[in-house]
Amino acid sequence: MMPFEFLNEDDLLRDVSLIDRASILQQLGSSDFDGCLKDFTGAPLDLAEQLLPLARAFSMAPVSGFSVGAIAVGASKRLYLGANLEFIGVPLSASLHAEQSAVLNAWMHGEAALHHLVVSAAPCGHCRQFLWELPNADQLSIHFEGKRLDLSSLLPAAFGESRRKGASLMDSPECALEPVGLIRNDLEAIAVGAAKASYTPYTAAPEGVALQCINGTTFSGRTAESVAFNPTVSALVCALNQRNFSSSREDAISRCVHAKLVTSLSSQESFSKSLLSRMSHLSMETILMEAL
Ligand SMILES: [Zn+2]
Repeated sequence: MMPFEFLNEDDLLRDVSLIDRASILQQLGSSDFDGCLKDFTGAPLDLAEQLLPLARAFSMAPVSGFSVGAIAVGASKRLYLGANLEFIGVPLSASLHAEQSAVLNAWMHGEAALHHLVVSAAPCGHCRQFLWELPNADQLSIHFEGKRLDLSSLLPAAFGESRRKGASLMDSPECALEPVGLIRNDLEAIAVGAAKASYTPYTAAPEGVALQCINGTTFSGRTAESVAFNPTVSALVCALNQRNFSSSREDAISRCVHAKLVTSLSSQESFSKSLLSRMSHLSMETILMEAL
């Protein structure tokens, strides 16, 4: 059964070859679909361009009504969907842009580098700066509106040094942390694990979130910082992005655990509580951690 009732395959997959269409429909129809597409015969970049309407269909833009889709092509040749997310009742800065969504999706799948990013509209300045955190940022090829440009030409004189290999958004080592108290259940362990894998080179304030939906499905998210600070994505929004590409995208959240460092100078905790309160009556649970 297709878990995404809003997807009209005849419309969204019309440019995809019949053989790849069958594979993609099978993956989308799986109850454990998670935003990653693989196992196709066409060239990954061609397919990414053909699948942009599909990515855009996952957009949730209740404030602007402006839906954007993006697809990241990983070094593994897998494709990662991206779509913008907006949240009612919180500042516009809580929004996730489609480019960020696709990059986070690839990162959460363990992809080590991106070769291409295909977007349905020109990347905004905020996204160009966010993409600067990628390991091959200056060579990343970005495709939109029939153009193909490197990030270095879209973002000349970027703010901040380029990230060196092994210290970027997709390839940094885990943070050495441990919880202050005992871990009492799986969801707490997931939140701590997510915090360890977060990317916070500018504040050293790793945070992780674990969400559970009423059907028992869990999602995790981690902080992804930007040297310019404002394009930073919180762990909760990162987790909501993963939920958005799943068959649980509209299921109620039944638990939310947030893991943070005791000594952090910066934290997304209060923002995350505020955002969660807009979608649930739950109290966010907090796990404190210390650096080793
Ligand atoms: Zn943007």
